[in-house]
Amino acid sequence: MDPSANNTRSSIIYILLFIGIIILVVYNFRQQAIDSEDLTIGEVAAQIQSGRISRVVVDEDNLRVIYEDGTEAVSQKESTSTFVEQLKDLGATTDDLNPENVRIEIKPPSAWFGIVNILGYVLPFIMVAGLFWFVFRQARGGGNAAMSFGQSQARKFTGDNPTVTFEDIAGIEEAEEELYEVVEFLKEPEKFIALGARIPKGVLLMGVPGTGKTLLAKAVSGEAGVPFYSISGSEFVEMFVGVGASRVRDLFNKAKKDSPCIVFVDEIDAVGRHRGAGLGGSHDEREQTLNQILVEMDGFDTDTNVIIVAATNRPDVLDPALLRPGRFDRRVTLDRPDIRGREGILEIHVRGKPLSPDVDLKTLAQATPGFVGADIENMVNEAAILAARQEKDSIEHEDFVESIERVIAGPERKSRLISEGEKQIIAYHEAGHAITARALPEADHVHKISIISRGQAGGYTIILPEKDRTLISRNKMLADMVSMLGGRAAEDIVFSDITSGAANDLERVTSQARKMVTRLGMSSDLGPMVYGKQEELVFLGKEMSDQRDYSETVAEKIDAEIRQLVSSSYEKALEILHKYREELDQVATKLLDQETITQDELDEIFPVPNSKNAGLPVKNAA
Ligand code: ADP
Ligand code: MG
Ligand code: ZN
Repeated sequence: MDPSANNTRSSIIYILLFIGIIILVVYNFRQQAIDSEDLTIGEVAAQIQSGRISRVVVDEDNLRVIYEDGTEAVSQKESTSTFVEQLKDLGATTDDLNPENVRIEIKPPSAWFGIVNILGYVLPFIMVAGLFWFVFRQARGGGNAAMSFGQSQARKFTGDNPTVTFEDIAGIEEAEEELYEVVEFLKEPEKFIALGARIPKGVLLMGVPGTGKTLLAKAVSGEAGVPFYSISGSEFVEMFVGVGASRVRDLFNKAKKDSPCIVFVDEIDAVGRHRGAGLGGSHDEREQTLNQILVEMDGFDTDTNVIIVAATNRPDVLDPALLRPGRFDRRVTLDRPDIRGREGILEIHVRGKPLSPDVDLKTLAQATPGFVGADIENMVNEAAILAARQEKDSIEHEDFVESIERVIAGPERKSRLISEGEKQIIAYHEAGHAITARALPEADHVHKISIISRGQAGGYTIILPEKDRTLISRNKMLADMVSMLGGRAAEDIVFSDITSGAANDLERVTSQARKMVTRLGMSSDLGPMVYGKQEELVFLGKEMSDQRDYSETVAEKIDAEIRQLVSSSYEKALEILHKYREELDQVATKLLDQETITQDELDEIFPVPNSKNAGLPVKNAA
């Protein structure tokens, strides 16, 4: 809604209120003038009889009495009967009222007076209603007319004049590819349906703010050539229960009529949070809205070509129901871009800006670890401002360097900046995970290594199992434990010091070892037995409680056995890394250079005898 229209509306309201107040004041003033009466009806009658009065003007209930000498007084009717009748009741004779003695003028009821009278009753109502309406609108932050309350405010784009295309996006190629598929489907649904392909109903874009989720959705709208409805999750959340749900209904009805089309729900976490997680009972507005979204998604027939694309910064808080198959079954993660990605994004944002020849985008990409697309856009803009302020006719390298600092120091940047030294440690840590995993045939495969921070972890190594397993052997568990400890071991070997970076690894290794000993009977010392009872505490959700049902001696043995498993795994990790120290250095160096390493690049450095390719991502070793 354009803000000036909103302003006009509120000033109209102020004007109306002002007029209303004026009218009330005038009306009251008249009432007061009337209240200050001089004479009672009886006195008027007496004075008429005594012949002092020459003229009486009857104006509704009010009497203006004009004396022979020209002075005036006022009086008021005291009952509903006419003035003349009242005078007669008070004993005035026909002679007294003879027009030759006193002229009685009866004014026709004035239109103005009637209006004022009616307004006096109606105005307070109008004002209260107006006030209500006003408050209503303010609460909604200005929107459409109050009548369209339950209607969705989704903006519809037809894609006739796309503002963003895939050309304007860089550094998130995987996500682009996924969405390109969606676009292809919407362009030629027959091609897919002929082969019996089931097209995802929902695509969920996940990633930290500024990685280009909204941008990507806009690009899809431009490329798909089908109608594109865009709405933000927060627009569903209203102060009135039920409005959100009815908006969802309205939006989906529109979309179904327009199919094939795309519905984009930005920031879906606003409505898609875990149900029952908040305080305030289970029937709150957000929940109803979410339920309605789920109902609508389930209600789509397979031939309804409506695809829902949603974006969120917080996939962790989403209601699991949203993530079930048949809903947002396709999930696309937008990572922070690596060096190559950042260079690509830089290229896009310097397009059409005059650059001095000394600008080196590659160096700039190296100098901006952790920057997301929005940071880069911001940085290029700052550089342009700096250059303009110094009356330069092109942007120089030093402008960019200075603007990087501004963006880092800026209030909006939440991710921490990693120092060179830290970066080196993280690189070796991740390389340690990768090398140990590679060296052990039973261990899972390394899919991607990265030193771009993600959440709490400094870097991450994505390890994929060869195939879905239901049975996991003891040897494989041990191999996985070795690779989990590979990070810590690499730090130990290379820097002769260890850091807190392995905290999460250690936790996972320890719980794995405990599980092997107490639950899976994999310790030779303690035998194939289960120790301790585990109960699910229903009231605390997924919390588990352990109940000890064994002696103190056994407890000691369990501890010793767990320690044994973990420390022998650590020894093994150290051994491997000593043996492949050269490869470790190579991987770490390459990581420092380009921040991410793919499976193929790792193959080059450290080939695996019979490398089989991946299945589904199962775990990330931080
Ligand atoms: P999100 O929705 O993920 O928070 P946006 O899509 O709103 O992020 O990104 C904000 C701006 O940052 C975009 O308008 C664009 O200019 C820039 N940007 C973000 N990611 C990219 C990218 N991958 N390529 C190019 N520009 C990007
Ligand atoms: Mg966004
Ligand atoms: Zn780790």
